[in-house]
Amino acid sequence: MDEWNRRQWLAGLGLAAVGQGVIANAWQGRGNKRLPQSERLTGKMSLALEDYEPKSMLLVSETKVPRARFPVIDFHTHLSWSARRGRVTEAHNNATPEEVLPVMDRKNVRMMVNLTGGYGNVLEQTINYWQRPHPDRFVVFTEPWFEKITEPGYPQFQADQIARAQALGARGLKLLKTLGLYLREHVTSGPLVKIDDRRFDPMWDAAGDRRMPVGIHTSDPEAFFLPTDRFNERYEELSAHPDWSFHRKDFPSNRELQEARNRVIARHPRTQFVVLHVGDSENLAYVSELLDRYPNMHVEIGARIGELGRQPRASRKFFDKYQDRIIFGTDAVPRGDDTPQQIFGEQLYEIYYRFLETQDEYFDYAPAQKPPQGRWRIYGIGLPESILRKVYYDNAARLLGLQS
Ligand SMILES: [Zn+2]
Repeated sequence: MDEWNRRQWLAGLGLAAVGQGVIANAWQGRGNKRLPQSERLTGKMSLALEDYEPKSMLLVSETKVPRARFPVIDFHTHLSWSARRGRVTEAHNNATPEEVLPVMDRKNVRMMVNLTGGYGNVLEQTINYWQRPHPDRFVVFTEPWFEKITEPGYPQFQADQIARAQALGARGLKLLKTLGLYLREHVTSGPLVKIDDRRFDPMWDAAGDRRMPVGIHTSDPEAFFLPTDRFNERYEELSAHPDWSFHRKDFPSNRELQEARNRVIARHPRTQFVVLHVGDSENLAYVSELLDRYPNMHVEIGARIGELGRQPRASRKFFDKYQDRIIFGTDAVPRGDDTPQQIFGEQLYEIYYRFLETQDEYFDYAPAQKPPQGRWRIYGIGLPESILRKVYYDNAARLLGLQS
């Protein structure tokens, strides 16, 4: 209704003479009482971004996917990690197998890869706790012993540790983004150690020789390298976690980190690299280029369906083209509610399955009140059965040397 028509209509109701102030008050109703005086008459409202929780008015169908259509290997979980108590480092378990196994059974998760198995005694404790009693349900990866980088002979020591880890039962090697963003020449001080530092060459080769896949997390979302300001699409996430920002200081750029990792993949063609979090999930064209260039590169999708699902047409093409190189993972962490997109549980799996299996539109990518990684929703890509089987299970099984 335009303004002239509205006035005509009001005149008809005998209200025109009292003017718009009354109308504005009537429209604002109860909400008006809570507004500061200065805003009452103008009708202008303000609301803190953190309080904004819009409910979508779209009427779209919701497909419940309580169970994956085919058995699943979750290649990216953190069932445990290393925790330091005083001078001793020990394994910290985020759950017990008895808590995790029933959820896995209900969700059709055949196996979980616990990437953060640590090294030394921690690795042994972790394997004994998860993998040894349930070898067909849990496998454990080892991690580099970065604290030893200052010691002479580190390159050979680290390669030997890979052999020792495999003898203990470790099935692969995991690199956190520590390499590239935190590890420094004197461990916590000095210049950052580059991802393609030659001291790690024997380690990458040892993993390749022993057919241990390398799960590598490099860099972080693009927005973490930009100022946390009103233009940043992850403003709320970075405000809640200021230490996640890699803007300025002496941090390399996202692209420099990706390129350093690419040089490692190129230098070690017999080693199989699983690039976690899709690598650079905001830029699928770039990731596609890399997959074309490096036959020993694979990608895992954990904590990035928020990115994949907001570009459903590009994602669908990506899954079609690279269906033999994409691996299912969730980055699940049992306990803690800091990062809703990673909380282990039935809801988390249902969202991933809905994204992969259905054509549903505009739904939440994380079990949370507000989208935790950015203010958007996602769309399902409805993969066919042949691709689902590969992404859910076969691609990971091949890398882990399991029988399909
Ligand atoms: Zn992770």
